[in-house]
Amino acid sequence: MADRADRLVRFFQIVPLLALLAVAFVALGGVVRPVPAAAQSFQACLKGLWPAARRAGVSAGTFNQVTSGMTPDPDTVRLMGKQSEFVKPIWDYLDSAVSSSRITTGRQMRQKYATQLAEIERRYGVDSQVVLAIWGVETSYGGFMGQHNALRALATLACEAPDRRDYWRDEFVTALQIVQAGHIAPNRMESSWAGAMGHTQFMPSSWKKHSADYDRDGKNDIWTDVPDALASTANYLKNFGWEAGKTWGYEVDLPANFDYSLADEETWRTLGQWRRLGITRTRGREFPRPSDKAFLLLPAGANGPAFLMLKNFEVIKRYNNATSYALAVGHLSDRIIGGGPFEKSWPRNDPPLSRDQVRQMQTLLTRKGFDTGGVDGRVGPMTRSAIRNYQKRTGQIADGYASVRLLQQLQ
Ligand code: CA
Repeated sequence: MADRADRLVRFFQIVPLLALLAVAFVALGGVVRPVPAAAQSFQACLKGLWPAARRAGVSAGTFNQVTSGMTPDPDTVRLMGKQSEFVKPIWDYLDSAVSSSRITTGRQMRQKYATQLAEIERRYGVDSQVVLAIWGVETSYGGFMGQHNALRALATLACEAPDRRDYWRDEFVTALQIVQAGHIAPNRMESSWAGAMGHTQFMPSSWKKHSADYDRDGKNDIWTDVPDALASTANYLKNFGWEAGKTWGYEVDLPANFDYSLADEETWRTLGQWRRLGITRTRGREFPRPSDKAFLLLPAGANGPAFLMLKNFEVIKRYNNATSYALAVGHLSDRIIGGGPFEKSWPRNDPPLSRDQVRQMQTLLTRKGFDTGGVDGRVGPMTRSAIRNYQKRTGQIADGYASVRLLQQLQ
């Protein structure tokens, strides 16, 4: 009896042991082939995008083909929602965006695609050197289109971005529509980590509104077909109001004792009126059309180059809303057709402030009685006006340039 009882006890000791071993086996298997919670929740999120895709006419076949086994793009996860504290000086940006190799390659591409560019100018009324310059600045003429997949990057943003997930979801759904319509294979839909696609870095919504089919083969292929991409860029600029036959702007010389408060993106005057205020084009050249309206831009204050910017400068900014970007595109377009470098050099020894330094500057100006409208790390109109008032009070040129030297003075 004791013997049997003993064996029974041992049996019931072995059962939990076996169960434990089985659990351990499964757990070890889990280590070899992990299904982490993040990937599971990403798949669940993707499933949640299906109703929006279906409403947009995306088939279950397309949706499943694209999303099955999809994991978040790690680069997108790493970079999304990050805002650089450091503000790159405009001259550093221009040095790389308008490098000598960009100029040389732009001139080669102008030869290579001469026939297509002439036709694109004829169709859209946009100068081909500007189209080439955008292609150059966006992707180095197709040399670097981002090396990410638009569908994966956009799905990652739609599921994991810190904000605007509805926007990213809509872009993802539009990207699904594009592949479903057969414009490009899903795995060739190359983009930046944030979903800007192909040679011309269009978001899917921009592709939908502005892309073009140069060779009329039924595909608006901005990924592998250069003339389609260039026609798309030209169409984009045309749709945002490009004025045919006009340029983007001119580098200018300012007279002594110039009133720098006139440098303001809101104040448009004709080139003739600016001339009467003493502004001339560099190297004594004339303005071809004195009736064109322009605003005065000093990207780095009184010690850097000055420009009169025409309407087309604002149109370039619709591609990417940054002064440095639009100036790079305009300048590269001039260099491609043989123009020279800017006459005046940049104040490389007096760089702009980082966001944190702008906050310091705003605090110091406010303390001294110059109202910056708060301390937000951004140089808006009120901060610029406060800087100008401070500069006037201290007998300096009132250009409103928020530079390191200014901050040093305030300290
Ligand atoms: Ca085509």
